[in-house]
Amino acid sequence: MKLSSVERKIIENSIRDIKDFPKPGIIFKDITTLLNDKEAYGILMNHLYLKYKEYNLDYIAGIDARGFIFGASLAQMLGLGFVPIRKKGKLPYTTISEKYSLEYGIDEIEVHIDAFSNIPHARVLIIDDLIATGGTANAVATLVKQAGAECVEACFIIGLNFLDGIKNLKEKTDVYTLIEVN
Ligand code: AMP
Repeated sequence: MKLSSVERKIIENSIRDIKDFPKPGIIFKDITTLLNDKEAYGILMNHLYLKYKEYNLDYIAGIDARGFIFGASLAQMLGLGFVPIRKKGKLPYTTISEKYSLEYGIDEIEVHIDAFSNIPHARVLIIDDLIATGGTANAVATLVKQAGAECVEACFIIGLNFLDGIKNLKEKTDVYTLIEVN
């Protein structure tokens, strides 16, 4: 089910741009204003529900931390389990982890080793608020596979088209972005 141009505009207009956060030169896409706007949040979640109910999914995997908000809401609407993919050191049970490069340095993301184990070859949708370089989402797609599941698609509310993140991630899985920033 496609979003109408009016619906897309309502979602787009609800996202706030914060210049020079967290450092000079970055325009931070603030989705707290989207969450605060019941019409925009409702249109967004309804759209994701109608789209993904056709996918025969087993789990939604949300990326730390804003992916938890959209992912947990969507999992509940679809009647699916939710899996949090967290920054290193936050998950209490045995984990598997994947390192990825940042502009300066390295970060690491983790999932519980048994997160998808109740369903053999579980079909998983990854979700986050935004894809920039794609480093985080690429590492998450690798982790999902290592955990024995299949990454069916990666979904982002916002895609930064001027970076290569979407193109690179498409080599690994299908990618869906609602709002594209050029
Ligand atoms: P990347 O790994 O470069 O694709 O970065 C994606 C992660 O960083 C996501 O979890 C985003 O929430 C966050 N992020 C990166 N750039 C921005 C931005 N301009 N505005 C908001 N969040 C961002």
